[in-house]
Amino acid sequence: MTHYDFDLFVIGAGSGGVRAARIAATHGARVGVAEEYRYGGTCVIRGCVPKKLLVYASRFHDEFEDAAGFGWSVGPASFDWARLIANKDKEIGRLEGIYKTNLEKAGVATFKTRAVLEGPHSVKLEAEGRTVTADKILIATGGWPTLAEGAHIEGLEHAITSNEAFHLKEQPRRIVIYGGGYIALEFAGIFAGLGSEVSVVYRGERVLRGFDEDIRVALSEEYARRGINLLTGRTISRLEKTAGGIDVALSDGTIVACDAAMFATGRAPNVQGLGLEKAGVEIGKDGGIKVDRQSRTSAPDIYAVGDVTHRFNLTPVAIREGHAFADSVFGKQAWHTSYDMIPTAVFSTPEIGTVGLTEAQARDPAWIAAHHPTLAGLGGEIDIYKAQFRPMKGTLSGRAERMLMKLVVDQRSGRVLGCHILGPDAGEIVQMAAIAMRMGATKADFDATMALHPSAAEELVTMRTKWTPPAS
Ligand code: NDP
Repeated sequence: MTHYDFDLFVIGAGSGGVRAARIAATHGARVGVAEEYRYGGTCVIRGCVPKKLLVYASRFHDEFEDAAGFGWSVGPASFDWARLIANKDKEIGRLEGIYKTNLEKAGVATFKTRAVLEGPHSVKLEAEGRTVTADKILIATGGWPTLAEGAHIEGLEHAITSNEAFHLKEQPRRIVIYGGGYIALEFAGIFAGLGSEVSVVYRGERVLRGFDEDIRVALSEEYARRGINLLTGRTISRLEKTAGGIDVALSDGTIVACDAAMFATGRAPNVQGLGLEKAGVEIGKDGGIKVDRQSRTSAPDIYAVGDVTHRFNLTPVAIREGHAFADSVFGKQAWHTSYDMIPTAVFSTPEIGTVGLTEAQARDPAWIAAHHPTLAGLGGEIDIYKAQFRPMKGTLSGRAERMLMKLVVDQRSGRVLGCHILGPDAGEIVQMAAIAMRMGATKADFDATMALHPSAAEELVTMRTKWTPPAS
């Protein structure tokens, strides 16, 4: 029998890689992990976790304002960016330590180095100047922000991405954010809440392409109400450093002056220089490593999970894929990740929570058959239920912001195909709705569930009237 140094070698200690390494080790495998930067990967170091901490910071602004209607007098509030960043960094350091310790406690050997493939069973540990061998290799190297790929933009070197936004020495007084997706809208909410002047430049007519249309409209309205300058239908053509900051030139000739220009124009899989060709690992058309349902690449003993495969770039998905891989290959319990009804949130303020199909997707049976085979045969004829209301807290605070809830229901079966929420705690609410929807809950099941009063979420079980389009 061939002898390898490890049963499994994992490249990348982010969410997917760490989960796979720990689970494989608990199944008795001899596991090594290489990480060139910090344990925890995008989510812990420069993604979900620090982002959510900044979101919390930004929301105190509303709390201070709203307190007055409830009898509180809050003195002049001031905000210290440097203190927030220092506290955030301390917390990230703590979490990183936990990630590393948990790997070591599970008996995983850790290597602080960039690792590249040298063949189907060998990995070069660059900082150590040596090569190790492994029966199985897992690639979990994640992704990296791209700067408006394919576009020619002068002065691109003046742009930052979310990576740098987490470490700015000073809070930008004025920021231009490029893109209309998750990261752009989350950071727009963060900086606006912290008092920066925010402009969002987006090439399409309405931000959040792919989300339900009502949510897109409602968030655009709420952001405009908050003074966020949404410059849609435009691209950035040039960035120019000036004495006072950066001038951002747009395709319509407008110049927006700012202190920071942040690009949030998508992320690409981290595949460069990994030696994939030496090991026979193929890349797909979208730039991600091609894998099958079991996360196996075109090389029989090499697997890949998480953002590097460019399937659903979400932390819980990477974790599930890593877990399924480790159980299947080392635990004699084969299973694969289900991509049905993945709930997601955009931590904008107000927040978005969404699960299942948008109204447009649910009206299109061909789209459903192609993208959600488990829902094939549903959709086409659908009913829509919507509620838009001012949350109770707004009555005394005077805040005009409205919450939106929407259910997309298959007409024949009554099955709830989509749930879309904009407003406080939308993400928390949608996580729970996702359980019911994954189990195939119908609108009648929602209706039969007792309301929890007074709450915003009770709207989900009390919407009785089908929405009909206004007569034109
Ligand atoms: P998204 O794909 O969400 O958004 C990218 C945005 O950039 C889109 O609006 C896109 O426009 C625009 N864009 C893309 N290419 C160009 C270009 N060449 N020129 C101009 N505009 C361009 O990516 P993000 O970077 O925001 O986030 C990456 C991924 O990370 C997300 O898709 C998500 O999977 C994950 N993520 C999840 C979060 C969460 O769960 N809360 C938070 C943050 C990230 P268009 O719509 O026209 O294509």
